[in-house]
Amino acid sequence: MPIQILADHVIAQIAAGEVIERPASVIKELIENALDADASTVHIMVNSGGRRLMRISDDGMGIPAAEVETAFARHATSKLTSADDLSHIRTLGFRGEALASIASISRMTMTTRADAETVGTRIQLEGGSLLQRQTIGAPAGTIVSVENLFYNTPARLKFLKAENTEKRQIAQVVTRYAIAYPHVRFILEQDNREAFRSSGSGQLADVMVTALGVDTFRDMIEFDSADTDRRGSITVRGFTSLPSLNRADRSRIMLFVNGRWVQDSSLSYAVIQAYHTLLMKGRFPVSIVMIELPSDEVDVNVHPTKAEVRFQNANDVFAIVQRTIRRALIDMAQAPAYSHRQGFILPDQSPGNQQIGMDLDLDSPGWFPHQYERVQSHQNSDDLESIPTGPEAPRRPRTLPLLRVVGQVGASYIVAEGPAGMYLIDQHAAHERILYEQFMAEHASHQQQAQYTLSAQTIELPAPEARLIESNLEALQATGFDLEVFGQNTFLIRSIPAMLADKDPVEVVAGILEELEQDKTPGQASIEEKIVQRVCKQAAVKAGTILSLEEMQAIIRQLERTQSPLTCPHGRPTMLHMTSDQLAREFGRK
Ligand code: ADP
Ligand code: MG
Repeated sequence: MPIQILADHVIAQIAAGEVIERPASVIKELIENALDADASTVHIMVNSGGRRLMRISDDGMGIPAAEVETAFARHATSKLTSADDLSHIRTLGFRGEALASIASISRMTMTTRADAETVGTRIQLEGGSLLQRQTIGAPAGTIVSVENLFYNTPARLKFLKAENTEKRQIAQVVTRYAIAYPHVRFILEQDNREAFRSSGSGQLADVMVTALGVDTFRDMIEFDSADTDRRGSITVRGFTSLPSLNRADRSRIMLFVNGRWVQDSSLSYAVIQAYHTLLMKGRFPVSIVMIELPSDEVDVNVHPTKAEVRFQNANDVFAIVQRTIRRALIDMAQAPAYSHRQGFILPDQSPGNQQIGMDLDLDSPGWFPHQYERVQSHQNSDDLESIPTGPEAPRRPRTLPLLRVVGQVGASYIVAEGPAGMYLIDQHAAHERILYEQFMAEHASHQQQAQYTLSAQTIELPAPEARLIESNLEALQATGFDLEVFGQNTFLIRSIPAMLADKDPVEVVAGILEELEQDKTPGQASIEEKIVQRVCKQAAVKAGTILSLEEMQAIIRQLERTQSPLTCPHGRPTMLHMTSDQLAREFGRK
């Protein structure tokens, strides 16, 4: 074949392939146009997962009659004039590609009237060619209908997923924009049934309840970098789940940059990092993260679908996201609420518990009557009306309820009673958490780790393990291990962390090696943290150890003072909770 320039309609179809992958891409582009036109209501109607018909109507500014045809030309936009503008884009669209692309692969009808004009225009295209244009009476705003999507691109048509998959994708797109634009009312109808509706009240919390459901929202806390990070031009706010609410994948971490939904694995990772040691490996939070920054500090022109961005100061953005969420979690999430896990729920933290102090008298019966009442009354008002919707939304108190030790089960679990029922505490996991926080606190304050000095204890290792120790000498030193190279594969153990004083130093070092040998997968701790976690695991009281009442009381008292009493450093739960209500139900008293 000789080289030839492609016909316009072929070019348009190729270009459309980049922007319009599936029906949900059409919905996305048309919603963006409505938002750019300052609509306050966007109504979306879809039939058969978008294959047959999609109709988006808005009450935005409309298109002047004289410009309607131009809007469908490739690279026609009212949002950009010079290349300079590209460096500070404030609109969602700017490439001037969507209308031309969609028109080239469907039958498209647009009815639009500009605010200032008295009559509207209707224009109809098929495969990108103009079929009809007429002047017509119409409300201010724009209605776009897209029929027979991909009718002339069989390859695309073939790759469409099952109707339900497409429907779900569309619902996801609508939900994301509703979250990003709480002051705009979104209505989604699929096959003549209302599938989603946001109120447009302007309250993010309102949209979240609609989008995620009351139960999920109840287990989320609000964060705002303005509370903690006043410097700089970047702000980060949103809602994130308490550690008790988590999922097996990261699909519920939603990121928005200047009102644009983006996919960015390092930003998601920053969110995940904020949960470090609070979530088990392989579990991920639910998070809505809104990042705002000056438009010239972010490049949105990275990909035709505009779902990727590039930050000028990526590290700053990641750091603020991670810090803000971490702070919020530490401040509020000391006790997740109402999380049902196999009949148990994690410790209650209804507002009634707020006043319960840390300095307990462990000989007291465990609660004061008025506190108990408050806990109860909160639980009873556990309905929709009680969901706060303001910015103060789900604030959480910060302490574990005071617990009274009842006894020990299986030489492994402490049974305790608190204002809201019965608690089973894993003595090993709880002690690990206590030691871990003590260790990290000393570390953070740059105190020299307390060490236990040994006299001339040597350890000889196979060559690979010896190299591993050698390459981590510094991290070991920082965490309280003093090892000295003493021949080819032999080390002199001069000291070990004081909390391991009663352990066999050779076994201790072997344990650390085991930890270091495990691959450093993403989401994993730093080397030092891994060492600390291992030390705490070794130092913590083992399951199978019979404890005296005083020892159990000491564990509980110290656990109450930790920042994250509910999980061990590896993210496993330290305790299970059965409420008084549940007990009553189990025994048929309710
Ligand atoms: P872009 O959004 O990148 O500018 P589009 O092809 O999506 O490109 O739209 C082309 C132009 O048509 C827009 O710049 C805008 O001026 C106009 N337009 C499209 N949709 C609407 C709408 N719903 N309301 C008002 N104007 C619209
Ligand atoms: Mg557009």
